[in-house]
Amino acid sequence: MPMPAQAAVRLPPSLNFINGDWQDDTAAERIEVRDPATEALIGQIPRSTPAAVDRAVKAAQAAFENPAWRDLPLLARERLIHRFADLLEANAQEMAQIESLDNGKPVMFSGMLDVPYSVAWLRYFAGWPTKLHGKSLTPAIHGPEHHCYTLREPVGVVGLIVPWNFPLVLAVWKIAPALAAGCTIVLKPAEQTPYSALRLAQLADEAGFPKGVFNVVLGDGVTGQAIVDHPGIAKISFTGSTPVGKRILSSVARDLKRVTLELGGKSPTVILPDADLSTAIPGAAQAVFVNSGQICFAGTRLFAPRKVFDQVLEGIAGVGASFKIGAGLEPDTMLGPVISERQADSVMAKMQAGIKAGATVFSGGQRLSRPGYFIEPTILVTEDAQNPAFREELFGPVLTATPYDDIDDIAAMANDSDYGLAAHIYTRELSAAHRLARKIQAGTIWINTQLAPDPAIPFGGFKQSGWGRENGEDVFSHYLESKSVIAKIS
Ligand code: NAD
Repeated sequence: MPMPAQAAVRLPPSLNFINGDWQDDTAAERIEVRDPATEALIGQIPRSTPAAVDRAVKAAQAAFENPAWRDLPLLARERLIHRFADLLEANAQEMAQIESLDNGKPVMFSGMLDVPYSVAWLRYFAGWPTKLHGKSLTPAIHGPEHHCYTLREPVGVVGLIVPWNFPLVLAVWKIAPALAAGCTIVLKPAEQTPYSALRLAQLADEAGFPKGVFNVVLGDGVTGQAIVDHPGIAKISFTGSTPVGKRILSSVARDLKRVTLELGGKSPTVILPDADLSTAIPGAAQAVFVNSGQICFAGTRLFAPRKVFDQVLEGIAGVGASFKIGAGLEPDTMLGPVISERQADSVMAKMQAGIKAGATVFSGGQRLSRPGYFIEPTILVTEDAQNPAFREELFGPVLTATPYDDIDDIAAMANDSDYGLAAHIYTRELSAAHRLARKIQAGTIWINTQLAPDPAIPFGGFKQSGWGRENGEDVFSHYLESKSVIAKIS
């Protein structure tokens, strides 16, 4: 594939997409969107006002009541979602380029992972509308003259708020089940990465979803808060940082909106003494450096046996150093920039705080002196579980490594975190792996593999990594309400 120049990537308009139309919010201030690889301005989006959010919610409410959506036969809903997937697949290269320009991620990965995964998510969830149904029930204390059943009804208009690290994938993780359930949508992408969501909305429109089913409102936390506070929204599905998740939770307490929260992580990679290091080393390196470490379930805390510790770290550092650093749109780039100047400053400051508190730098540790927000793959070593680099989510290409002597200490060391999103275990002894999997407090445990979410497998966090699960059948408990109907027959 020839390298597309930045200027050759066609971006959708920097406007809200409401009720099937591009709409400016003329009252709104503008937010600059920059290419993280060059710092060049690529667009300016509105910080949409509560009035624009209200227009989007009203359009979604009308669409929810519209018989063209509400009464659409389930197989027709399935067909619509498949058509949406077909269009995303047909425009895959363009979407991969938009994502790489906007986010900085290597086009090699957005083309191989982000876009095909998003298509797969839509196809998986397209199969669900015909399988979502209530139950026929036999009452326990009332007599047989009662006929009882449950209905599973879409909750209504859902507010979907996503971060910048996987703008397309994380939006589709929410859009696909919401549409399959029959909800209507107000989506707010992150202010740093608005364009794949806008292109998705265009494709949904082209697929034939009734106007107002899928709306996109642009803006930052101010706009996000207006969505959270809008009384016409029945449910918020949020992916982002733990502090913002907590703020949303306190806001929805006012009207008891349904809410699911996919939040931060500080996931362990545990290498057991018998592990095959030829699998564990590249696995541990990919788990922390892919997407420049901006993955919520990245394996950012490494635990390796002391006797192989240096060998493991040299191996991981070697894999990191082999990743070609560059702009996402260059076809051979394997490690792009982090998302923004602010994020680069935050990663460097947290790294420095860890070093000041006693962590040592095994490799990397520098921001590259070139335009763009590039940080070297970095390994810090600490045996202090209170070190801030061990405790805090850095959300950059930084691994904190800790040696261990006694395998019996591992579960407690891995669980010594406020987070509980995921864990990676490397071993050849299956019973040890499954024993440890039961002890680790995390929503997903990978054994001898890494970074492989699947639409059929529930994903979400223990502890401060969130509430609820995305994916699989579990996700529908958040997009459907259960209604019990009891009738006296005689
Ligand atoms: P963030 O919380 O700052 O922002 C996330 C989204 O929320 C953005 O769209 C932002 O505009 C919006 N927002 C900000 N303040 C808001 C408010 N008061 N009300 C409503 N919306 C608001 O997070 P970020 O920095 O964009 O993303 C990185 C974080 O996301 C990391 O902590 C990462 O671990 C987490 N994350 C979690 C998962 C998961 O599945 N658990 C996946 C990806 C990222």
